[in-house]
Amino acid sequence: MTLEPSSATADTFLVESRSVACDGGDGPLGHPRVWLRIPEHDVVCPYCSRHYVLREGAGHEAH
Ligand SMILES: [Zn+2]
Repeated sequence: MTLEPSSATADTFLVESRSVACDGGDGPLGHPRVWLRIPEHDVVCPYCSRHYVLREGAGHEAH
């Protein structure tokens, strides 16, 4: 088995809203833009596996 030092850090993006638009960016992981909703603290894009993390203190805007 080989441990890759960078394996624990997939693409992770801090966001400040529970609604995130993801298109995978340029390159092989690009995909049509989809909207992701962060249910709790984070969400992983089912297309490109980008990891979106809700920034601490965000997502609690007034109703
Ligand atoms: Zn994506």
